[in-house]
Amino acid sequence: MDRVTVVGGGLAGLAAAVALAPRGFAVTLMESRQRLGGRASSFVDAASGQVIDACQHVSMGCCTNFHHLCDLVGVRRLLAPQHTLFFQTPDGRISRFKADPWPAPLHLGRALAAAHYLTAGDKLGIGYALARMLAEPPDTDPPLREWLKRHHQSDRAIDRFWGVVLTSALNETVDRVGLKYARKVFRDGFVKHRDAFTVHVPTVPLAELYGVELRGWMGRYSVTLQENVGVVKASCEQERSGWELHLRDGTTQTTKHVILAVPFDRVLALLPENLVADPFFARIGHLTPSPITSVHLWYDRKVLDLPHVVLVDCLGQWVFNRGEVAPGEHYLQVVVSAARPLKGVGRDEITRQIVNELTKLYPAVRAAKVLRTKVVTEHTATFSAVPGVDAFRPPQATPVPGLYLAGDYTATGWPATMEGAVRSGYLAAEAVLRAVGRPARLVQPDL
Ligand SMILES: Cc1cc2nc3c(=O)[nH]c(=O)nc-3n(C[C@H](O)[C@H](O)[C@H](O)COP(=O)(O)OP(=O)(O)OC[C@H]3O[C@@H](n4cnc5c(N)ncnc54)[C@H](O)[C@@H]3O)c2cc1C
Repeated sequence: MDRVTVVGGGLAGLAAAVALAPRGFAVTLMESRQRLGGRASSFVDAASGQVIDACQHVSMGCCTNFHHLCDLVGVRRLLAPQHTLFFQTPDGRISRFKADPWPAPLHLGRALAAAHYLTAGDKLGIGYALARMLAEPPDTDPPLREWLKRHHQSDRAIDRFWGVVLTSALNETVDRVGLKYARKVFRDGFVKHRDAFTVHVPTVPLAELYGVELRGWMGRYSVTLQENVGVVKASCEQERSGWELHLRDGTTQTTKHVILAVPFDRVLALLPENLVADPFFARIGHLTPSPITSVHLWYDRKVLDLPHVVLVDCLGQWVFNRGEVAPGEHYLQVVVSAARPLKGVGRDEITRQIVNELTKLYPAVRAAKVLRTKVVTEHTATFSAVPGVDAFRPPQATPVPGLYLAGDYTATGWPATMEGAVRSGYLAAEAVLRAVGRPARLVQPDL
């Protein structure tokens, strides 16, 4: 039985392990931390003992590989589909974004037409630009803002429509992204299929989703799970004997195939010195990060009736209402994607601004008491989808025998998301299967 070692227990590594374990490989999963899920994970809040997500994660209906993984390991039931999205402006007005029972792409036409925060002219212009965007060749990737301006988009349409959708979906601003992934978001997420835009929110902390349930699945398929095991270097003296993984504790493990499923800012450090300068790998060094900040707030009473709100023209972009998590403790999480402007702003000031925003939006907040707050910033939350970014994203199969890459940053055709991570894991597993002469298609079809 061939041994495959997956380094990294984020969604990419987990997907690769789940794909290969039932296919006759002895799979070992090494994770440097004491928990699975990587960036999509939770921690125990020291103040309350509650398990909270570092940041709320959601998927969309178009995330077919992520949902396939969830189905496979039995956690899909823990995702709650949101068929209506609520968009709110600082004046408190809310537009409901809901599909009509018409075929795509007409299903969302009426919802866009009813958006209170755009003028009729903006909406017509958006319809025109969307049609032009979809007609662009899939790989053209000019700077998006220039492209939008060339296609007659007003600043209001850019800020309140394109910016609102893309900053959350790509974790980057309209000023910095390229057309390619913007097009991908609108095409795959809104236009292609009626169910694509449905947002799925986990009903349990991510630790439960990927930790408890997945752990059980891996036990049943004999995956050897090694947590708190960090790899410091991978080396290969002789191709025939496979790979040596040098671990943080000074020991070494050998393996025939190794899938490095660590983030883009870690992977080069693990490679043998002679590969770091190889253009195949060196391009990874050109990827740049984009941060996400999440503000966690516990109130002494219910302050919001809606399950979530997408904020327009605000500092916060999404408010997630996690309900009463302990007696008399109502928990909200406010997410700020592409949080570069918050760099250098203290946690107290960020909290103050978010609390002010919520106080203006929701009358119930004025009477409520803030019990606790917490600010979490992930500085390297995702890679930045700048124009031409795909030149820096390597495929999962490398030119080096027995060495594979997985991770949301690898060439998946997707932005840095849980879907991208799972796709990369499946693609890495496909590459391993090809290498042993048993090719199989693991990546799931789009909606
Ligand atoms: C704040 C935040 C919010 C997000 N929101 C969303 C969202 O709503 N929806 C969405 O789809 N995506 C979201 N994302 C993106 C999503 O989390 C990532 O794209 C995805 O989880 C990446 O998975 P990965 O396996 O590629 O990498 P990671 O999750 O980073 O996994 C890599 C793993 O490798 C381990 N590791 C690193 N070095 C070593 C080593 N030397 N030895 C052993 N193990 C090692 C790490 O500990 C980690 O567990 C968000 C990300 C962040 C940070």
